[in-house]
Amino acid sequence: MASSSIPFDQRDGVIWMDGKLVPWREANIHVLTHGLHYASSVFEGERVYGGKIFKLREHTERLIKSGRILGFEIPWTADQIDDACNAVVKAQKITDGYVRPIAWRGPEQMGVSAQETRIHMAVAVWEWPSYFSPEARLKGLRMMISPWARPAPNTAPVHAKASGLYMICTIAKHAAEAAGYDDAFMLDYRGQIAEGTGCNVFLVVDGELHTPTPDCFLDGITRQVVMELARKRGIKVVERAIWPKELEAADEVFITGTAAEVTPVSQIGNYRFTPGKITKLLMHDFDVLVGRARAEASAA
Ligand code: PMP
Repeated sequence: MASSSIPFDQRDGVIWMDGKLVPWREANIHVLTHGLHYASSVFEGERVYGGKIFKLREHTERLIKSGRILGFEIPWTADQIDDACNAVVKAQKITDGYVRPIAWRGPEQMGVSAQETRIHMAVAVWEWPSYFSPEARLKGLRMMISPWARPAPNTAPVHAKASGLYMICTIAKHAAEAAGYDDAFMLDYRGQIAEGTGCNVFLVVDGELHTPTPDCFLDGITRQVVMELARKRGIKVVERAIWPKELEAADEVFITGTAAEVTPVSQIGNYRFTPGKITKLLMHDFDVLVGRARAEASAA
């Protein structure tokens, strides 16, 4: 059986849990855990490239911030969380992989009020090589415009990477997959372009990079990295409110994220795009940054 199809509770190795490395299959929680019932849980998704976690401190800081937005303090410092992540990568002997830190309210109290709960934390790491060659990725993703909207900042904790926010992502993604698409493309509560179910989005318009202002969704770490790469290439980056009808004027569209990296989009609803020069350039620059490509081998 390919390792990707082994259920996640039936793998071997170790998981860091509340300060200790425990056998993978024993990293369990009780069914009356607050985080499970009330989504009082925050997490991160990180990549290991060549044995090193990319932007580890930025992810750790976002995890701590996400917990604070939900009203809890993770009982570990940023240094301790970084150390925990690195310790699991080392113990699992991972060269190219995925890191999943998660913090949640425990089973000490059951009900909406959760003042007495303890905050627990775990870090799991698994192998996750880059499956797609640049050629395969250049085919581009097909995205369906979802009827589910990213909520307003006074409706949900939109700047936290909080588990509860993924409820509509899974519903939207399943609907997209059932209709033969790769992912759902989500607008926000105003009808403006927001993001994918696990990624941010960029449009290339007249040689400039346009991306929605992240005022009701995650300001992705990859998003920030890619904006910086674009500026280094002299490409103008514009953050603004973008309406879906503006997709008509986009020459290229791509998504960014820890999992997606930089991936071209070939279709959003009835709009079609061909991955072009700027997308290829940024895919290349990203690959160089994470150590997967050499700077001189330009993909543009
Ligand atoms: N939006 C959502 C909803 C996500 O889940 C992610 C992935 N964490 C992103 C955007 C991109 O964030 P990052 O680049 O930090 O992975």
